Amino acid sequence: QYAVKFNHSNNQAFSDFESGARDHNGGKVAKEMIGAALQKKIQTIDPHDCEAGEEDAFFVADMGDVYRQHMRWKRHLGRVTPHFAVKCNPDPMVVRLLAALGAGFDCASKAEIEQVLKTGVDPSRIIYAQPCKTKSYLKYTAKQNVKQMTFDNTDELYKVKEIAPHAELYLRILTDDSASLCRLSQKFGASMDNTYELLALAKKLDLNVAGVAFHVGSGASDPSAFLKAVSDARLVFDQAAELGFRLHTLDVGGGFISETFEDMAAVLSGALDEHFPPQIRIIAEPGRYYTSSAFTLACNVIARRTVEDKALDVTSYMLYMNDGVYGNFSSIMFDHQHPIPQILSTGRKQDGFNYSTESLTDSGYASAEEEDTGKINSSNRAIEYSIWGPTCDGIDCIAEKWTSKDTVDVGDWLYFEGMGAYTKCSATRFNGFTDKHETIYVSSEPGAAALMGL
Ligand code: PLP
Repeated sequence: QYAVKFNHSNNQAFSDFESGARDHNGGKVAKEMIGAALQKKIQTIDPHDCEAGEEDAFFVADMGDVYRQHMRWKRHLGRVTPHFAVKCNPDPMVVRLLAALGAGFDCASKAEIEQVLKTGVDPSRIIYAQPCKTKSYLKYTAKQNVKQMTFDNTDELYKVKEIAPHAELYLRILTDDSASLCRLSQKFGASMDNTYELLALAKKLDLNVAGVAFHVGSGASDPSAFLKAVSDARLVFDQAAELGFRLHTLDVGGGFISETFEDMAAVLSGALDEHFPPQIRIIAEPGRYYTSSAFTLACNVIARRTVEDKALDVTSYMLYMNDGVYGNFSSIMFDHQHPIPQILSTGRKQDGFNYSTESLTDSGYASAEEEDTGKINSSNRAIEYSIWGPTCDGIDCIAEKWTSKDTVDVGDWLYFEGMGAYTKCSATRFNGFTDKHETIYVSSEPGAAALMGL
């Protein structure tokens, strides 16, 4: 799957990718680059004799991965202009890269809008996609000339009339998000029974309704969720026309996941072409699709507890890492994720560097037979571990059960792929642990490397 021959200075390979010949998930080169960055970093750290915090968890981010996702988007959803959902990962390099690639941005707060504007993005490329806005933020957006924003209730319309009467409004409608990872429609979205009434009030208040928005739920697994949402949006366009509005934009929200992207894109494109003529502008608010796979997190094992089950004559271990659910693994609590540990290095001097350039095995774990780290246990039987975060809270558990044929000890490093969405943005400082972890940037695509100076 990952058999990609790619030389950083090889333009032919680049144009192969542009034409769709390369695997969209990146290749062995990307994995090797990430591995090299991980190794370089941990080689500078002696976990048994370093300054406080020097061995903190850190990220390696592949901007090439974000770049590939954008090209893949353009290939399969060319009609739809992505507005990256900053909430998912407000990493400044990601925002800069997507700005340079011409994407728009979905912001939900003053701080997000401020960050995107400071990157040099024109206000017309921002949608304030928060149907229930803070008054002072709304004042700020009006002052900054950010006009596009969503609403879904009458109170919000009065608020907009008072503070931002020239806004371009998108009526957010409810969707069936039952097949998604994080449901949003229990909190936001006007039901189809209310849309006419809301549009009529907007008309009475002389507000400018420019379009319709929906979100099928974050981490949507059923592409058909888009079918009903698009046809409902069509009905709202028709209601608006009846009231004298001329809507010009449909916002199809986020929810896209890498694994099913082509299927979703095909279903969505079909529905859009059926219900909306080409002159209607279509935008989207993808978040995790863009960043999830680009970030790899490395964590240090700070402590280990040996657990002997004398009755069964089995020894297992509890591993304590320097990052947990109050930190970058907040995705376990808030985003229903199950991050998969892999061994990065064992042994004090990192002579047991164990990073795998292959994709995960079917079981979800890196093959233990890949390399002899010099620390494989003599029985060669799988050892059982549970993995915990650094805080005092018992809920701070990353994996209740993980098996490996390698012995993992204090000072060793584990790594977790796919840590780029809803992770560091929701990390806390609980127990005084840092919520600011270093990110090392690499690029497995020359296009992104050139844009970002990597
Ligand atoms: N747009 C809105 C309004 C959201 O609330 C979210 C996520 O919560 C997104 C976009 C991004 O969703 P996703 O990361 O699933 O693409």
